[in-house]
Amino acid sequence: MEAAPRSVVHRIRANHPVIGTVPVAFAGTELVSIVAGAAAAAAPEDGKLAEMGVGNAVQNASLGEEIVARINELGEISEEAGRLTRIYLSKELRKAADLILGWMRDAGMSAHLDAIGNVCGRYEGERPGAPCVMLGSHYDTVRDAGKWDGPLGVITAIACVADLNRRGKRLPFAIEVIAFADEEGVRFASTLLGSRAVAGTFDESVLTTRDRDGVSMRDALVLFGLDPDHIGAAARARRELLAYLELHIEQGPVLEAQNLSVGVVTAIAGATRLAARLTGMAGHAGTVPMALRRDALAGAAECIGAIEQFCRTDERGLVGTVGYVHAKPGATNVIPGEVSFTIDMRAPTDMHRKRAVADVVRQIEAIATRRQLSLQLDVTHENRTAPCAPWLKEQIARAIAAEGLSVFELPSGAGHDGMAMIDIADVGMIFVRCRGGISHHPDEHVELADADAGARVLLGVIENFRPREDRASVN
Ligand SMILES: [Zn+2]
Repeated sequence: MEAAPRSVVHRIRANHPVIGTVPVAFAGTELVSIVAGAAAAAAPEDGKLAEMGVGNAVQNASLGEEIVARINELGEISEEAGRLTRIYLSKELRKAADLILGWMRDAGMSAHLDAIGNVCGRYEGERPGAPCVMLGSHYDTVRDAGKWDGPLGVITAIACVADLNRRGKRLPFAIEVIAFADEEGVRFASTLLGSRAVAGTFDESVLTTRDRDGVSMRDALVLFGLDPDHIGAAARARRELLAYLELHIEQGPVLEAQNLSVGVVTAIAGATRLAARLTGMAGHAGTVPMALRRDALAGAAECIGAIEQFCRTDERGLVGTVGYVHAKPGATNVIPGEVSFTIDMRAPTDMHRKRAVADVVRQIEAIATRRQLSLQLDVTHENRTAPCAPWLKEQIARAIAAEGLSVFELPSGAGHDGMAMIDIADVGMIFVRCRGGISHHPDEHVELADADAGARVLLGVIENFRPREDRASVN
């Protein structure tokens, strides 16, 4: 998911930062901790594996080849020659949708485009109309993208259904596959439009937003062949879903460092973004003695160093980034009088991030005070953490162990559609290793063997899926 600050701006008061003013929504369910050592604990005992009927997915060694071929085919559909760009509601997105619709139908699913442009397929269970396990990811891309981010989850899910269909196998529940039309938020600077529509949390005010060519989202929907007044029809009810599962490339280097094909995601990390402005006094670079200066850029540099140091000493997955700095007036011979910079902070739990943001704000305030700089800090974006459901993590861990692979847990630092889907379903995620952790870049790459391992794990999860206890009546 691309960085796209939302419109909400919460002012942090100068004297009492954060506490009481930053509206961090606490997700409520079990707090997950990231860790490299939790792997062993998650692996089930051998007896339990046999009881789960594992091992029946091993025969599907060729799923990876089919997946890679389709990744390449879909990756050819781009609005720019020589590089992959497929943004929301573009002609090329429509072409991609048609290709995916065909794949879904070939896999034995009924398939349609919903009101926001998501491609939706359904494979009925033993009895028609049963609640579903929903598998999804997105089919839009960033500009100059890699071909795996999003499509791997969609194509793998279809490959799993196709495999069941070839064997004539029906399950006690339906399987639905959704290719979300807008996860990246490139065109209208608002992310997760596809999954928010499905979760029933789509904000209609976005319809008036215009892209960089001045086309409103409402007009773009009409051009795509959709009715903007019927987006509500894309919403699904909680009772229709037993779970939402997503397979996605890791987009980071952790699985590669662990030498593992796949991993169990513990949570999709929430993020807090702040905009900071330090104001000092501009002056002549030659005449103002060092002791009398109020240099805003030197102050910002100290803040940036403090943020990095603070995050580096945290061993529980906290990350902090200053990705934008602007100094004024910006001349070689003038002491910088005003500097703006951004801060992006993420952690595996909301509590952890909230405390870290409070600490960082206190440090920045102290630096500003000591240097006699005035400080303005605004929270420009706040996304709560989406914890993956423990019961789904356990079923994913069993499927991984059943493939003879080590079970390893890791958090997702990037945003995913699960952040929206958690409003109507418990969420589980499987990560697949990508080369060098590179993503949002044409060099993004997944080895065929890893694509295959991911597919076998997802198929294992589906075939051995057990609903959460209070939903077990579908069996
Ligand atoms: Zn993605």
